[in-house]
Amino acid sequence: ARLRGTLSEEASSAPRLSQGLAEALELEQALHGALEREEFHLHYQPQLDLESGQVVAVEALLRWRHPRWGDLSPARFVPLLESLGLIQPVGAWVLEQACRQCVAWEGVGLGVAVNLSARQFLDPGLFTLIERVLGDTGVDPGRIELEITERLAMQEPEAAVELLGRCRALGLKVAIDDFGIGYSSLEYLQHFPLDVLKIDRAFVATVTRGRRARAIVRAVTVMGQSLGLTVIAEGIETQRQCDFVEALGVDQVQGYLIGRPMAAPSLEALLRAFEPPGGVS
Ligand code: C2E
Ligand code: MG
Ligand code: MG
Ligand code: MG
Repeated sequence: ARLRGTLSEEASSAPRLSQGLAEALELEQALHGALEREEFHLHYQPQLDLESGQVVAVEALLRWRHPRWGDLSPARFVPLLESLGLIQPVGAWVLEQACRQCVAWEGVGLGVAVNLSARQFLDPGLFTLIERVLGDTGVDPGRIELEITERLAMQEPEAAVELLGRCRALGLKVAIDDFGIGYSSLEYLQHFPLDVLKIDRAFVATVTRGRRARAIVRAVTVMGQSLGLTVIAEGIETQRQCDFVEALGVDQVQGYLIGRPMAAPSLEALLRAFEPPGGVS
């Protein structure tokens, strides 16, 4: 009876499974060549400094516009790019594009943060790529920030410390992304060369509702700042959340309230809206 139960369960899920497979295969096929067909582009999401009230940096977020399916979430296709071995060329494109955009925004003085995934980070060619892109674009390295997650950093901690140290020696900044939801080990904070700590939006989502979330955000902020890091709260969607994290001492905020990830021209329009009227008062 048990065997039959298992079999019928498999049988009933078979059409769904094969549908999923067909879709995954189609997605894979489409990803090959997406770079050549120029289907990727970057969106930029503003990071607001709470003390100055200025947008000081943006996070570059990869977008893939498939001619038939439209925009697809990177949460869905970045893992696929990784498993297909396509993350290197696409990642290189992202870095180059972000650096070029940063140069174009030199007058505005915006920093640009770039996400790195595990495969990219563990690629022995990454440092050479970074050096090349910095050289080719002539970007001020101090304006470029590399975002890595805790999980990624902890995969090969010694190698990570070494690589991040070399990147910082070039003048680049390093951010720890999605802080607090990975396999957090505070131990690495002792050794990791970092500049920025981004508190995951899971904490922001509950900060207005519970003392515990507030206690965590406050403690993480104090810890980060004591380590000399800039602390950013991610996923700020409401003014109330923004007020709360500001009261808890966070340095910068990023989220839909300040601005959604958007194409460069829209970002420039948003920047104008944040400019103090009539210059510095
Ligand atoms: P992430 O680096 O943590 O990026 C922040 C994500 O949160 C983005 O999702 C952003 O659109 C979303 N977000 C920002 N503000 C809010 C908010 O107020 N509320 C909510 N609910 N969400 C908000 P997105 O663009 O879908 O990217 C998802 C993830 O994909 C990123 O998470 C990052 O890990 C990865 N990713 C994106 N671009 C790249 C890239 O160029 N290279 C690599 N390796 N990974 C990337
Ligand atoms: Mg990020
Ligand atoms: Mg994040
Ligand atoms: Mg995230």
